[in-house]
Amino acid sequence: MTHTLPDLPYAYYALEPFYDEETVRLHHDMHHKAYVDGLNNAERKLAEALAKDDFAMIKNIEREIAFHGSGHILHSMFWNNMHPNAGGPANGQVASLIKRDFSSFESFKKLFTASAVAVEGSGWAVLAWNPIFEKLVILQIEKHQNLTQWGVVPLLIVDVWEHAYYLKFKNKRNAWIDAWWNLVNWDDVNHRLSLIKK
Ligand code: FE
Repeated sequence: MTHTLPDLPYAYYALEPFYDEETVRLHHDMHHKAYVDGLNNAERKLAEALAKDDFAMIKNIEREIAFHGSGHILHSMFWNNMHPNAGGPANGQVASLIKRDFSSFESFKKLFTASAVAVEGSGWAVLAWNPIFEKLVILQIEKHQNLTQWGVVPLLIVDVWEHAYYLKFKNKRNAWIDAWWNLVNWDDVNHRLSLIKK
């Protein structure tokens, strides 16, 4: 089974003025596509290694599968995590859990923003559900796959790779995150939460 680039759930221009059309187009059509292609390529190499019973390159292949596979998964979620008519404070079940685990929405927003700004190099900030601790957690992700907590289920993510914002926001990662808050699709976040938390 090969992986395919999912269509955006809205038009390229739909997130203006918070997220400009040119960046969205490049981000989806070039960067996200590169992770899909990289994952397919790495899985092809894995199939060849299995067929040839030759695992000399396995470290490299599995590294590529982790990197491109995680890049594909996170971008697929990132597009649905945003919506043109969205933003504002959280609602629904996730709002109650945010209040319980971070004391208030404002505190959560500050902590999430600080985490995203502080990611070293390229990566993401993520709000996730940890079913073992039975609580929400905020994590920084370096690249697409480093610093995870095993078992967590991501609910809301922001892309802080430079390709996600550099055309418009240049080195002002903070300004990109401020703009992104206006796009957060809490219905999608609650939907993801409802799939794993009764
Ligand atoms: Fe990205």
